[in-house]
Amino acid sequence: MKNVAYLCMDATGMKTKIVFSEKCLNYGGWHVEGPTRVKMAHDFLKEKNYEFLEPTPASEEDLLRVHEPDYIWNLKKGLVEDSDTPAYDNIFELARLSAGGAMLAAEINGFSIMRPPGHHAGRSGAASGIYTRGFCYLNNVAIAVRALGKPALILDVDGHHGNGTQEIFQSDKKVIYVSLHRYPFYPGTGAYSEGNSMNFPLPADCGEKKYLETLDKALGMVDTGKFKVVAVSAGFDTHRGDLASLGLTEKSYREIGKRIAVLKKPVFFVLEGGYVGEQNGRDIDQLLRGYEGRI
Ligand SMILES: [Zn+2]
Repeated sequence: MKNVAYLCMDATGMKTKIVFSEKCLNYGGWHVEGPTRVKMAHDFLKEKNYEFLEPTPASEEDLLRVHEPDYIWNLKKGLVEDSDTPAYDNIFELARLSAGGAMLAAEINGFSIMRPPGHHAGRSGAASGIYTRGFCYLNNVAIAVRALGKPALILDVDGHHGNGTQEIFQSDKKVIYVSLHRYPFYPGTGAYSEGNSMNFPLPADCGEKKYLETLDKALGMVDTGKFKVVAVSAGFDTHRGDLASLGLTEKSYREIGKRIAVLKKPVFFVLEGGYVGEQNGRDIDQLLRGYEGRI
């Protein structure tokens, strides 16, 4: 009996918690970065018995550790818009809640599936001179890392280069940024490594073998003594056929999860891209199964 009880506790107690609020589904139904991608992921994860937690919005103080005051002021007034990134009604509050989701994930070592995403947002909006913010308003993962205040490895597995994250942390000695991404592709940055930003550009649809070899190489180059936490910018648009396809499948995300576990540090996950809803749910589940060593 004792063994059974232990196994039951193990099966549920070890499972990464999901950070989510229904509020993130109430805007942008016409956009490719729309609510369906998160709603379907949520429903899939709920069916798989994940536990959910509601975030609270990040404070302005939290935002100002990452972004310039002028940019925050403009976002608050709804004055920030580009061809990819609309100034939705109430976008400041929506973006603050998504940033708060990343902060809660950092606190509990959970996985925030909140939208909007964040890794293209730089200090003052569009980063590194790129023409759009690529569906991003506030850099959620950066806000969470700064709030924690601990040396961090940010592992960005979204199919696009996180130009915002690179810009924010470029001269920050407490952060190592590692990104695997499709190149040449939007946003056009990340062709080579610069200081603490280690970039691994990959050709379109390179496939799992090449991807995992590159990930092993990248993580092998990182000094694990230099960070105390791993923040994963978890994008799934690398999935075969998605917006930034690198030809990955569900199984590939499980393999990525296993490699994150090998780092043996506290980890949290923040959703970036991934535009096929149910596929996102399956990929998140596989990533977490790989990370937690669950079957
Ligand atoms: Zn992406």
